[in-house]
Amino acid sequence: MSAATKRTLVTGGSGFLGSFLCESLLNDGHEVICVDNFQTGSRQNIRHLLDNPRFEVLRHDVTIPLFVEVDEIWNLACPASPVHYQTDPVRTVKTNVMGAINMLGLARRTKSKIFQSSTSEVYGDPFVHPQPESYWGNVNPIGPRACYDEGKRCAETLFFDYQRQYQIDIRVARIFNTYGPRMSQNDGRVVSNFIVQALKGAPITLFGDGLQTRSFCYVDDLIAGFRALMDAPEDTPMPVNLGNPGEFTIRELAELVIEMTGAQSKMVFLPLPQDDPTQRKPDISRAKEHLGWEPKVALREGLEATIAYFDDLLTRDVDVATQSPKAIQWPKGHRANGGGRAAAP
Ligand code: NAD
Ligand code: UDP
Repeated sequence: MSAATKRTLVTGGSGFLGSFLCESLLNDGHEVICVDNFQTGSRQNIRHLLDNPRFEVLRHDVTIPLFVEVDEIWNLACPASPVHYQTDPVRTVKTNVMGAINMLGLARRTKSKIFQSSTSEVYGDPFVHPQPESYWGNVNPIGPRACYDEGKRCAETLFFDYQRQYQIDIRVARIFNTYGPRMSQNDGRVVSNFIVQALKGAPITLFGDGLQTRSFCYVDDLIAGFRALMDAPEDTPMPVNLGNPGEFTIRELAELVIEMTGAQSKMVFLPLPQDDPTQRKPDISRAKEHLGWEPKVALREGLEATIAYFDDLLTRDVDVATQSPKAIQWPKGHRANGGGRAAAP
């Protein structure tokens, strides 16, 4: 192993963002241990990496301590879609809080640098717009989104306490809505919902009046931001917002998806979920100044790639739960993902 090659651990590595991160680290010659309990991740997302000798998959839940030897830890494990994180809210809190404690403990023992995938949800339904890192947020601590929002806020607290108390080298990214290929078809987040609905000619489900805003970052841009943050000097001010400052109403997004897919879909208006933030836009001055990072992919361009991905998935009639082609019937005793590695679902 060369001096520049790192032994990295990616929790949530089979998820949407995690799979792109694993790929990026492998492409740069690093070793990657992908740790995942496959709650929302999929084998399909990492299938193309399984033959790489520097890639390992470990089925493990981050709420349980883990003993491995690594140089760098990327903590991404946690369902990100409101539909999924609200299905078992207690589990969501445990993943965020106990997962952070276990990974920080691992970082302390192995003297690793550790990255936390925090979220714009720490700003809640914000009174300050756009949101700078200095804003403390407006979060309902007892609402249905709290398991995620407060879980992530507590994880940030732990990261900064481990830094102060144990001098751990921490990197905390506050991620704003990110989209792209490999989101799950049944993920429930707005971009994948609208695209899948449009491609199926089904009604586009707008929650509320559709005038709430979000800023959508393409996955390639985000992963470049992750890597820049991990490689930045230790005294880089933390946390750092990562997202695309382009701000769109949800209705504008629906119109764009309908136009780009050529769908005949109508828009239907459904009740707005409780505590759904009315506006969201990152102030990315810190990332620009300290990481030299800003997103490059415009929404239309990113949607093009994402629509192409889902179009292919739906054309091939891929199973929603696993995103594996339905048609494949493995012969008895056949190991679908090759030997020597943990089998994912
Ligand atoms: P995702 O749901 O696709 O991926 C999450 C991964 O974590 C999945 O593979 C899941 O199986 C795994 N996981 C969940 N609980 C686990 C546990 N207890 N132990 C081990 N693995 C577990 O979501 P994503 O969009 O890839 O998000 C990745 C991270 O980025 C999450 O921490 C999320 O909160 C954060 N984030 C994402 C966005 C976004 O827009 N994509 C925005 C803000 C923050
Ligand atoms: N949304 C919608 N229709 C959907 C899914 C989501 O109108 O089918 C809205 C949702 O109410 C929110 C926004 O789109 O205002 C973004 O939702 P998402 O779940 O993607 O992420 P959030 O930023 O709310 O965590």
